[in-house]
Amino acid sequence: MNFAELGLDAALLQTLETLGYRTPTPVQEKAIPAVLAGRDLMAAAQTGTGKTAAFALPLLQRLAAGEDKVAANSVRALVLVPTRELAEQVHASFREYGEGLPVSTYAAYGGVSINPQMMRLRRGVDVLVATPGRLLDLFRQNAVKFRQVGTLVLDEADRMLDLGFAEELATLFAALPKQRQTLLFSATFSDEIRSLAKGRLRDPLSVEVSPRNSAAQSVSQWVVPVDKKRKTDLLLFMRKDRGWGQIMVFVKTKKGCDELVGRLQAKGLAADAIHGDRPQASRLRALEAFKAGEVEILVATDVAARGLDIDDLPLVVNFDLPHVAEDYIHRIGRTGRAGASGEAVSFVSADEAPLLSAIETLLKKPLSRDEEPGFEPKHQVPATGPSAVAKPKKPKPAGGRAGKGVPGNWVGFDDFPDGRPAGRAPGRGGARSTAARGRKPGAGARGR
Ligand code: AMP
Repeated sequence: MNFAELGLDAALLQTLETLGYRTPTPVQEKAIPAVLAGRDLMAAAQTGTGKTAAFALPLLQRLAAGEDKVAANSVRALVLVPTRELAEQVHASFREYGEGLPVSTYAAYGGVSINPQMMRLRRGVDVLVATPGRLLDLFRQNAVKFRQVGTLVLDEADRMLDLGFAEELATLFAALPKQRQTLLFSATFSDEIRSLAKGRLRDPLSVEVSPRNSAAQSVSQWVVPVDKKRKTDLLLFMRKDRGWGQIMVFVKTKKGCDELVGRLQAKGLAADAIHGDRPQASRLRALEAFKAGEVEILVATDVAARGLDIDDLPLVVNFDLPHVAEDYIHRIGRTGRAGASGEAVSFVSADEAPLLSAIETLLKKPLSRDEEPGFEPKHQVPATGPSAVAKPKKPKPAGGRAGKGVPGNWVGFDDFPDGRPAGRAPGRGGARSTAARGRKPGAGARGR
């Protein structure tokens, strides 16, 4: 299957060739013809599956071919996303794919002044990528009108609900034209997502893609049991010992994020933070500096990092495990993209055992453990594994998915056909050196 067979026209095919996209991903194969035909869509696909192009390419083609001219303060296609970073990211994709097409695009999100956004919207915009809160502000101030909206895209809909945008979404749905195409993308089809979709999508084509062929399968994942207070030293030690290059480090809280960056900087390391309390401009600067190689260690919280597209990241370190097991999947999605191999190392302290169990339940596999000599924990991490949690107990964020079952589209996640345990791939560099030196996995490797 190639992009031409999906019905994309010459201009877009040329752009894709320039970008080096040769084969459509599974979600693109299914979504592109359906979106071109004007169908509604409900797609279970997460970051790394090529979902952005799956809706952006056919949308751009339809908008470029349409006769409609956008009116003042109007929008022809609306793309709702949970975070500012994802808004920037999705907007950048629209610009990249739509280069040379007569389709205008713009991104509007909170945390920055609303006035320039109001000014830009006066001329109307074909594709508006927006976060729900700011969009509603703009709507209430009559800066944007919805009567020309022909397509609505909800990107990472589950995350929008997690972040508490349910009310904003309901208000926006009520204000949008009833006659429209609706495309809903979500990592999971939870009950909340189904009820969000109910009555708002017309006979949607249901698409579920397993992340098997995308990032996740090529990511080698493992756990280092360690006492909480020794995690920073462990990070510093392993970085040096394994010769780690650039790393992305995930932490649970904004405070933890700042504290870790402070400690790393105090050691003379080029570290920076991405979290929700930092102004948008400085978050983007940190990301750009990381991409440019000026920042060695980027420390991020889950919300801020969601949707960040950083290619070829070899290593992700989970300094803390996330509260919500699904966030683990999103974290490790930062590495091993587009077929590259990647590594995800989780530092786990005894108190995090329930979170580890929840993750292993989601993966349907225990993660192998590998203690680091000199950092063996005084407080042993209890045995974990899929069977160790009948019902994972996790702090539940507002409208969150904590405690939900394993989504069907993750069945088979990280299966190794040759029977290798999860998190162990032979012949790899970096942190694999532990195995190469013949150290035994930690006691908990028995896992279940
Ligand atoms: P997404 O899932 O939309 O976040 O996309 C993940 C990454 O895959 C992005 O860096 C895209 O540029 C890239 N990508 C999307 N579709 C393709 C494709 N068909 N071939 C190669 N790379 C792709």
